[in-house]
Amino acid sequence: MASILLPEAIEVRDSPIHGSGVFARRDIEEGERLLQYIGEKITKAESNRRGLAQEEKSKSTSEGAVYIFELNKRYDLDGNVPENTARLVNHCCDNNCDAVNVRGKIYFEAIRKIKKGEELSIDYGYDISHFMDHPCRCGSPKCVGYIVHRDQRKRLRRLLNQRKKQSVVKKTSPEKG
Ligand SMILES: [Zn+2]
Repeated sequence: MASILLPEAIEVRDSPIHGSGVFARRDIEEGERLLQYIGEKITKAESNRRGLAQEEKSKSTSEGAVYIFELNKRYDLDGNVPENTARLVNHCCDNNCDAVNVRGKIYFEAIRKIKKGEELSIDYGYDISHFMDHPCRCGSPKCVGYIVHRDQRKRLRRLLNQRKKQSVVKKTSPEKG
């Protein structure tokens, strides 16, 4: 497997969001290609197996450790390899990078200007079905509180509002002693 060197534009250091993060060492222009997401090419069946195993492990260690990335309909990439710096890019509800698939290779590109010192982030695109397992601490004013695909965040906000109302009703109803 070919390893890639850190491009001069980025560096890895502690992140206020989670663990280690990837940060801009200089101003970055929209459209700049910053990192390749490298890993092991695996079938969907193998991917599901590893995904579940990693989820289980992350529950017991409270470490977010699922690094599987969709490559196409048949294959995924397991990016849980040390040389894959892109695995350290955190999720943000107002992400400044997106993953693009160029002829079967995944790259992270800036989707807007990024200032020197800013943390790079992408949309992990998790499904809403297990949102409680993935709280988000991205700190963005747009944060919905959980790591969920951008297309599902409106739905999540509605769901959370409903739950809030229900819990208020519960609190005001008389309690049995
Ligand atoms: Zn967030």
